[in-house]
Amino acid sequence: MRIALLSRNAKLYSSRRLIEAAEARGHEVVVLDALRCYMDIESGKPEVHYKGKTLEKFDAVIPRIGASITFYGTAVLRQFEVAGTYPVNESVAISRSRDKLRSMQLMSRKGVGIPKTGFAHSPDDTGDLLKLCGGAPVVIKLLEGTQGIGVVLAETKSAAESVIEAFRGLNAHILVQEFIKEAGGADIRCFVVGGKVIAAMVRQGAEGEFRSNLHRGGSASLAKLSKQERETAINAAKVMGLNVAGVDLLRSSRGPLVMEVNSSPGLEGIENASGKDVAGTIIEFIEKNASVGSARTRDAGSTRARTAKPKPQA
Ligand code: ADP
Repeated sequence: MRIALLSRNAKLYSSRRLIEAAEARGHEVVVLDALRCYMDIESGKPEVHYKGKTLEKFDAVIPRIGASITFYGTAVLRQFEVAGTYPVNESVAISRSRDKLRSMQLMSRKGVGIPKTGFAHSPDDTGDLLKLCGGAPVVIKLLEGTQGIGVVLAETKSAAESVIEAFRGLNAHILVQEFIKEAGGADIRCFVVGGKVIAAMVRQGAEGEFRSNLHRGGSASLAKLSKQERETAINAAKVMGLNVAGVDLLRSSRGPLVMEVNSSPGLEGIENASGKDVAGTIIEFIEKNASVGSARTRDAGSTRARTAKPKPQA
């Protein structure tokens, strides 16, 4: 197969491993910087161009789109989709999962366990918003934040009010969430491929840190999942419409709660912690699916059957 890897840096661990795994199985991989792809949106003949050349058709595209380029990156991916290339994760699913508020709304509709979460505009509603989330302590999250930046633990009502006021003053949108204390500064990253959890790790925050992000000094080890945790992770990926997803769970006293579903989960932490060949599993998934169907836009509630023939859709 001819596979396009949308990645800004071929030297990153995740990119290297995907290239290695695909080549080991006899596929050709071309790494493309999404920001250098441009689009000819002509009727009946959509094309992707790259650095002055028209790209020949690929069988599959693996999108690794960073949060800072979500808008342009998903537009490029959509162009591959309308041109008939099979996307490992679809553009619409990536956009959906990148929006923390939209993700939470969709998961709440489908009954996936999530922490109590509130969202409001007016400062007049701050008091009630805090009550909805069970009162202080609460976690306040910038909608646009990643890697734990913009995630604040407010221990008291007045601290929460001040933080909310400060973010509002900056015109930032924020979510307010109940603080899951019993998670003990740890979360579980479940790596889902094709509706199965193929690897999982526990991430433990550094001493005195409630955020477990590896970028914030957290450490990772192999996780053993309960059936309920496994099912929750699979459900969350399904609701988002993601074939490949990193689902982050908190272990709460009322069972697993989904914090976030990541559409371009990193491979380094999970391969090291689990010892699994995650890159190889992703390539195997592509082998099984790229030839069957092509781009197919599923929404979070869609139950449409898979089409056997490639059928580009927007
Ligand atoms: P980001 O997308 O920036 O990583 P997250 O929502 O994943 O933001 O939060 C970062 C970390 O903060 C999580 O990995 C988790 O350890 C901790 N955390 C987030 N929300 C909660 C919560 N409601 N209760 C307890 N800990 C939380």
